[in-house]
Amino acid sequence: MRRVLYFILIFLLSQSVLASEGQLTITFFDVGIADAALIETPAGEHILIDGGTEEGGGKVANYLKSRRVKTIDIMIATHPHPDHVGGLAKILREFEVRSLYDTGMEYECEGFAAYREALKAFKGTTTTLFGRMILSLPSGVHLDFLNPKRQAKHIHTDCIVVRIRYGDIAALFTGDANDVTEGVLLFDEVPLKSDILKVSHHGASDATGEEFLKAVAPRYAVIPVTAPNKYGRPHQVVLDRLKSMGIAVYRTDECGDITFTTDGKSVGAPKCTRKLSKEHQ
Ligand SMILES: [Zn+2]
Repeated sequence: MRRVLYFILIFLLSQSVLASEGQLTITFFDVGIADAALIETPAGEHILIDGGTEEGGGKVANYLKSRRVKTIDIMIATHPHPDHVGGLAKILREFEVRSLYDTGMEYECEGFAAYREALKAFKGTTTTLFGRMILSLPSGVHLDFLNPKRQAKHIHTDCIVVRIRYGDIAALFTGDANDVTEGVLLFDEVPLKSDILKVSHHGASDATGEEFLKAVAPRYAVIPVTAPNKYGRPHQVVLDRLKSMGIAVYRTDECGDITFTTDGKSVGAPKCTRKLSKEHQ
């Protein structure tokens, strides 16, 4: 009898631990006009989507070390521009990366050269994406790779777009996808609806069209950017579009690192490492 009670107690304790740990967090790093986002699943899996520039990679590495993270289960390189893959070189060198998803495209620049060099010692699995693919993790988190649809040729049109879903909550990561990509995704009627949208290409006007936004219908939009920048991003037309649709915009230049936490049922306003502007208070 005592033994049965013991097992019931252990079962209840394990359930309470599971309940308290059943959170998924998404952190968008403040790495300038560059992209780096980390997803930590309820089972402790780590997914890194882009790594910023080489400097940004240092920031991501420090964050991972501060949390005693040693392994990246899934690394996604959305496309080979230096503000997306430059920082991944450091992560590949200093952490155990188990699987890598990229487009197979190349780009002549220092950031990509560093990434390619680091890959020479890579011992995990590499998947060159084209065509839709769904990856389901033991934690119940699903990664739905929506783009590239074809063998990648154009650096932005064929950028990786991935929708990550946990329970009822979804987040859409668009890399630097453009209006052509958005048109294809809309035409194919793939699931786009997401609570959180990582705004493409640092808020450039060649993406984040009205029809696309209507299909995604996000509550929160995150723009990784530093401003002012020589490209004038985020473009005012994109900011106006987001505002007119009632979408709450969080920018890394205003908020610092931006972290969302969800139990798979609801997602609240994110935590920012910098004091928010009046608009968000
Ligand atoms: Zn790009």
